[in-house]
Amino acid sequence: MLTCKKCGGKLSWFDSIKQLFRFRKSMKCNHCGEIQYQSTSSRNITSLFVLFPIITIPLSVLFNLSPTSVLLVEVAIIVAVIFLMPFFLKLTDKDEPTW
Ligand SMILES: [Zn+2]
Repeated sequence: MLTCKKCGGKLSWFDSIKQLFRFRKSMKCNHCGEIQYQSTSSRNITSLFVLFPIITIPLSVLFNLSPTSVLLVEVAIIVAVIFLMPFFLKLTDKDEPTW
């Protein structure tokens, strides 16, 4: 979950999701108003999460699933990914390089 490096204030799961869908590099702390950045390691993990539904498409085809089943599986994976992502978010007060 998102924790501010400056004040230690925690952002709720819903706030973390809101920050994720803004697709901004920086986010403002709800408690102290300080600008925070997503850490490089956390950014790498979340990009893997985003790739996960795409990686599973060929697997669904491999198991000879019908298009409807594939769609259902993909929707379930996307929902699971969105639900789990805030737990892997970490903030830092310095803008770290991407790699
Ligand atoms: Zn703060």
